Amino acid sequence: MYDLIIIGAGPAGLTAAIYAVRYGLNTLVIEKNVIPGQIATVTTIENYPGFTSISGMELMQKFKEHAEGAGATIQNNNVISVKEEQGKKVITTDDGGFETRAVILATGANPRKLGVEGEERLLTKGVSYCATCDGPLYGDLKVIVVGGGDSAMTDALVLSGIAKKVYVVHRRNELRACSILQERVSKKENISFIWDTVIQEIQGDELVEKVVLKNLNTGEITDMAIDGVFIYVGIDPNTSMVDTNKTENGFIVTDEQMESSVKGIFAAGDCRRTSVWQVVTAVSDGALAAISAHEYIISLDLER
Ligand code: NAP
Repeated sequence: MYDLIIIGAGPAGLTAAIYAVRYGLNTLVIEKNVIPGQIATVTTIENYPGFTSISGMELMQKFKEHAEGAGATIQNNNVISVKEEQGKKVITTDDGGFETRAVILATGANPRKLGVEGEERLLTKGVSYCATCDGPLYGDLKVIVVGGGDSAMTDALVLSGIAKKVYVVHRRNELRACSILQERVSKKENISFIWDTVIQEIQGDELVEKVVLKNLNTGEITDMAIDGVFIYVGIDPNTSMVDTNKTENGFIVTDEQMESSVKGIFAAGDCRRTSVWQVVTAVSDGALAAISAHEYIISLDLER
């Protein structure tokens, strides 16, 4: 039986692992993806202290080296369920089960879908959620970025360096993104804004050819020829494997110690209910969750 199993090897999970192994906890990290962490898809991170500018992939690699160097074991596996059974936690994966005294869920989140006709059918055929991954395919073409948050502006900037023209389609006439990103975007001559507008449909036979736009003020519907649609309308957490208290969008509700509604099950990072989704807050969550898991395990020992 493990002391602690951490699910997810993104910034939150690996930070939790570093703290847990330093407490001497018998710890296993289980990760589904070969390259974990949404952050690995980010081209440049400029707000993680200690690094004035670093790619998401490089930062993740440094986290991994640090955790493994500290003694953490990371196993690739897909977790199906996490259940409480007679005081212990039972984790079922595609390749069998594990027992542990405590669990930290650091399972992150995935890009939210727009939910319009054509989005799923034309995925990878002009529809994308990652400019860093797919942007280079759009050299000298015209693309749309959907959303007004930090992710949309970050990737609009990436695409402005590749595509001929970038249109930001936003449902309001005001951006949610931080002022530095807004300022940078406003200086790019090949980025234009289409305000108060949503995409109603993405059309095309083999590849994206056009979108149907709706102006939310006037109700006017227009067709617009386009080569690519990059969607950034928020994130959905990967929390279906566990039955704890969650928000209506599936984010795990925790207390300030990162403990969920089930004793001994903690959550950290993007899968947790929070108002900020940053690497630095994920790292902070991971440290706190490991400290709390350690205290929980000590309390189990004292009860014996
Ligand atoms: P976000 O901040 O939640 O922004 C989502 C955007 O999509 C909002 O502008 C929202 O419009 C719009 N939207 C939501 N649902 C929509 C729909 N159905 N149709 C059309 N538009 C829709 O998400 P995010 O940009 O992915 O950022 C997530 C978190 O990561 C944030 O905390 C952000 O600060 C962080 N992040 C940070 C950085 C950085 O620091 N460089 C980079 C990327 C992300 P409204 O504004 O009208 O709600």
